[in-house]
Amino acid sequence: MSDPVGRVVVVGAGIGGLRTVERLRHRGYEGQIVLLGAERHLPYDRPPLSKHVLRGERDTVWLRADNDFSVLNVAVRVDDPAQGLDVERQVITAGQGAVPYDAAVIATGAVPRRVPGVAGHVLRTLDDAERLRASLSPGGRLGVIGAGLIGCEVAASARAMGVDVDLIDVLAGPLIRVVGPKVAHLVAEMHTEHGVALHMSSGVAQSAGGRLTLGDGRRLEVDVVLEAIGATPDTGWLAGSAIELDDGVVCDLDGRAAPNVYAVGDVARWGGRRSEHWTNAGQQADHVAAVILDQERPAAEVAYWWSDQYDVKLQGLGSPGADDDVELVRWGPKARTIAVYSNNGRLTGAVGFSAAGGVMRLRADITAGADVNEIVDRLAS
Ligand SMILES: Cc1cc2nc3c(=O)[nH]c(=O)nc-3n(C[C@H](O)[C@H](O)[C@H](O)COP(=O)(O)OP(=O)(O)OC[C@H]3O[C@@H](n4cnc5c(N)ncnc54)[C@H](O)[C@@H]3O)c2cc1C
Repeated sequence: MSDPVGRVVVVGAGIGGLRTVERLRHRGYEGQIVLLGAERHLPYDRPPLSKHVLRGERDTVWLRADNDFSVLNVAVRVDDPAQGLDVERQVITAGQGAVPYDAAVIATGAVPRRVPGVAGHVLRTLDDAERLRASLSPGGRLGVIGAGLIGCEVAASARAMGVDVDLIDVLAGPLIRVVGPKVAHLVAEMHTEHGVALHMSSGVAQSAGGRLTLGDGRRLEVDVVLEAIGATPDTGWLAGSAIELDDGVVCDLDGRAAPNVYAVGDVARWGGRRSEHWTNAGQQADHVAAVILDQERPAAEVAYWWSDQYDVKLQGLGSPGADDDVELVRWGPKARTIAVYSNNGRLTGAVGFSAAGGVMRLRADITAGADVNEIVDRLAS
């Protein structure tokens, strides 16, 4: 095979970067690949960090065995953050030396947003997870600022470790931005049942010596604080480059940011949308591999995310709008629940509570914009 490009440089050794390498090889690319990583570790999986790794049930979850990288024939440079990208000269600069590219893929993910004046823990990397785990002990008290996916998962893991938890958010309910108010109410019930003290519609006004003061003046005594208020795309190293940045790397619907430069995963904004979910990073990686090799693009898939909290697996499909209608369907002795989202009577998404079979079967219905009443009848029967 003659390769349409000579060397691909992938910046960021997370799931998006690694999947790009794998998909290029899977699709038959035989040219050089260089993978640059800012961390000192080979690629590992991030979702377990707030779950099994935090609870001490597993150490790192490596995405590939060490010797797989020679099989993939990829030159991996860990602890070598890219420092700049010159679109004109097609070169990426990094501490261990500049690397010219024929195609470059930006997969640098995101960095945690900080709460001014708090100086608590954050959770994005394996090193963060190890530090947070070491700080938690049974009977201690953890204040989690931010009740998004990571904040909720850490709250659940901490309860399993015998840690008392205060979960604080300026919004009205946990996960409300992802699932909307009706489903957020169910998530709130789940956390309350497990002994988490919820402080919703409350900001942290002040933090000093183990005390968090909320906007309404209430004071919480905590031993450890986690800041989990979201993440911003890791694009600082692209400042001054010709790459357009606006809440991430601005890309077209093929992930193209500039001639021969692409972006995938949490850092990438394709056609005006940015997603911070694991499955999306892998799907975009495969799409970009196809584009680089000038092959047929894979079919677009319905967006998917999951979250493990206590013994519940939450799974979300689709991209419902904030104003979409929501109906809860419950069945069976275990009160399994699926929330179905619709717009003008057409199915736009679903969120299941430990209802994997039911949720995953809705993929095709979401793509087709199925009649929501028929879906509700089908699920309820
Ligand atoms: C604790 C946690 C739990 C999660 N749980 C879930 C879950 O249950 N379900 C779900 O769908 N999603 C989950 N996610 C989200 C999911 O992990 C991310 O969407 C996914 O990791 C994004 O992949 P990525 O490759 O775009 O970015 P990352 O995984 O962040 O990888 C980017 C890599 O690039 C490196 N990098 C940054 N700058 C540079 C540079 N200048 N040069 C070289 N390298 C650089 C970073 O160090 C990092 O290693 C979770 C995320 C976290 C943090």
